[in-house]
Amino acid sequence: MSGIYVHIPFCKQACSYCDFYFVTKSDQKENFVLALIAEIAALEGQVFTKEVVRSVYFGGGTPSLLSADQLGRIISELERVFSLELDELTIEMNPDNVTSDYLEALKDVGFDRISMGVQSFSEKSLIFMNRAHDRTQALQALQDIVTSSFENYTVDLIYGQPDQTSTELQEDIDQLMVFNPPHISAYALTIEHNTRLAKQVELGRIKPADDDEVADQMDLLATFLVNYGLERYEVSSFAKAGFQAKHNQIYWSHGNYLGLGPGSHSFWWPKSPIEKEKLMGYDVGFFRGLSSEQATALRWSNPKDLMGYIHKKNEYQQRLYSLVESTSELSLAEEYIWLGLRTSRGFDRGVLSERYNYECNAKQQNRLENLVNDGKISQDGECFSLTREGIRLADYIALDLLS
Ligand code: SF4
Repeated sequence: MSGIYVHIPFCKQACSYCDFYFVTKSDQKENFVLALIAEIAALEGQVFTKEVVRSVYFGGGTPSLLSADQLGRIISELERVFSLELDELTIEMNPDNVTSDYLEALKDVGFDRISMGVQSFSEKSLIFMNRAHDRTQALQALQDIVTSSFENYTVDLIYGQPDQTSTELQEDIDQLMVFNPPHISAYALTIEHNTRLAKQVELGRIKPADDDEVADQMDLLATFLVNYGLERYEVSSFAKAGFQAKHNQIYWSHGNYLGLGPGSHSFWWPKSPIEKEKLMGYDVGFFRGLSSEQATALRWSNPKDLMGYIHKKNEYQQRLYSLVESTSELSLAEEYIWLGLRTSRGFDRGVLSERYNYECNAKQQNRLENLVNDGKISQDGECFSLTREGIRLADYIALDLLS
């Protein structure tokens, strides 16, 4: 299974916590669309187009700042160049871009899933995060989705804001559950470098929430959502049966994915020596310095440079990648354990052995046994997954197992 991620780098304004690549000017949208279509066209016939694509995800930035016509033209080019047999076609939206007409136009061009960045219903929180929408727009957007023909959607919430109380978080959850969404992603606010929030923390104007308080809020949120009937299938993801996000499963299971647009990331694990040779020979200099043996899988990214992306649109045959790295079998195995521990599926020792050529050593076996005895990990045959108690310590446990 493979996926495509399309990065749309436009935002109305900069959210205080965000370190994704975006620009707040909107005058280059059509030029960007043309460059994106050129990037897709340049991939025609390449090794990436031989694998069936099951999911396409439009993220950003704010994809809903493009018109349905522009999005439709991008999808048409993807259909022309790739073998799309889609289980999921998702678009991220912000509440201030939603109208009933726009939703139906998105449906017409092929989208079947919406990811709505609500983050909070509290005016205080929305202002603190410098979101472009207010509470009224968030409520209206959800109402519009509920009454639209989209059945599959997810809503993002952010908790763990400085000074946010559990009561305030509970109010956000209560308000959200009025709409009975089939999927929710809930993230703790993190202080990323080079953001306005990081600057405010550095200047001492804001004190980040205490780690224990954030963990308590995560527990509160998880307890409530699970009691409501959603399954916590990943640390931050909750879904009704049948509504688990398919695109993220590609990332979590080391499926191949191609990133398109400035700032996007790609990952490709060749299935055979022949495919690897094709990939390695894909572009002169692309994999310069990497030997075929080193390169179990490859990761690369497009530069975070919208104007460069637009102006080089005719040179895509020569590639634009800013970062290319090979990934060894060992680091893929460790990543599989780390990612697996974040999901309800956990990790499987059989898969580790067969797919990653990796055996847990005596120290790791011992740690696993202790974690099972302590009730932090549950074991089912060769599968190990975190218990509810263990999830609270997910990162620590993963680090402990891998160090
Ligand atoms: S809308 Fe999304 S991508 Fe844009 S600044 Fe806010 S969080 Fe970042």
